[in-house]
Amino acid sequence: MHIQSKLPNVGTTIFTVMSGLATEYNAVNLGQGFPDFPMSDELTSLVNKAMKDNFNQYSPMPGWRPLMESISEKVELLYQTKVNPATEIAITPGGTYAIYSAFTTILQPGDEVIVFEPAYDSYIPNIEINGAKAITINLVYPDYHIDWVAVKNAVTPKTKAIIINSPHNPTGSVIGEKDIIELRKIVEGTNIFIISDEVYEHLIFDNIPHQSILRYPDLLQRSFVCFSFGKVYNCTGWKLGYCIAPEPLMKEFRKVHQYNCFSCHTPSQVALAEFLKNKDAYLSLSSLMQEKRDHFRELMKQTRFTMHDSFGSYFICGTYERISDEADKDLAIRLTKEAGVATIPVSAFYQNGKDDKVLRFCFSKKKETLEAAVEKLSRF
Ligand code: PMP
Ligand code: GLN
Repeated sequence: MHIQSKLPNVGTTIFTVMSGLATEYNAVNLGQGFPDFPMSDELTSLVNKAMKDNFNQYSPMPGWRPLMESISEKVELLYQTKVNPATEIAITPGGTYAIYSAFTTILQPGDEVIVFEPAYDSYIPNIEINGAKAITINLVYPDYHIDWVAVKNAVTPKTKAIIINSPHNPTGSVIGEKDIIELRKIVEGTNIFIISDEVYEHLIFDNIPHQSILRYPDLLQRSFVCFSFGKVYNCTGWKLGYCIAPEPLMKEFRKVHQYNCFSCHTPSQVALAEFLKNKDAYLSLSSLMQEKRDHFRELMKQTRFTMHDSFGSYFICGTYERISDEADKDLAIRLTKEAGVATIPVSAFYQNGKDDKVLRFCFSKKKETLEAAVEKLSRF
């Protein structure tokens, strides 16, 4: 049997490769982005309770209504925007699925989507599987800001969407108010959609306000805004998230969703509906993760890596010109095997493998894990 591949250029994701190597060589895994500390006991108890209370059957297709109401309240509190829980939210099995569904909702063969690189690895395959084309624009090295002139020049009559991601994976850069103004200038008067990947909405540091698209009603009317509970509650394995979009867009999104997974894990949704009311649980995440960033950055001074800034996400990047001039992928493999620390080479987030000799480190780990990793790195 022969399959004509829909994704002929895709191999195994770098996360799978590096986590596999980390296990094989028993390395400290600062590669794939996931916390190694436990999630909230209170939240797991709420899921247990929901199961025991018999919330174990299908929830409604768009999501468990009380959870959608809690999300809507949270959005109003944080971004002063009213989102209708009945018509403008869909609960999804993770943020990646929300993004994939948004692309599938809007894209026709031949459409173009503007993607900033380095880019989270699912975006371009999601675009291509829908027969559309990714038009990539490099974020400007080394602070990875958006070159809006390049964006303006990349817009064509075929441009169907722009995908933005702030706080940004893999670089930890964030967009500011000026970026929103530039984005607005570009899309105003066009039919360009915005897909906004905001899975790190609560992982933003140094008191920088998160520039959610949800703050801007004029932009929101053309947007699909995607979130992940995995990132908010330190439970990446739950694979639960949501998409917010205005009613006409959400109506089409739900058509895609209803014939894909239809509805998500009910007990988790019942638990989250309750837990989301606890503002401290999500508002305290920034300071917890900022402490980890600061601790890791300080520790890394013992090594010969040069760390970039990180203003958000789980990640901080570093260069290694004082160690070697080899390709980032080669160094990442050697670091895993010889030093016992897994990282992610940032060239993996570029379609053409652009290599600025930068590695991504995940600092969303226990203090002991970060210290053990740096101890190994300092000997390398
Ligand atoms: N977007 C970005 C930028 C991410 O880093 C992640 C985390 N894997 C996701 C989306 C998807 O989150 P989820 O695990 O909920 O699918
Ligand atoms: N978002 C996580 C990362 O960037 C992991 C994603 C995945 O394993 N697909 O590392």
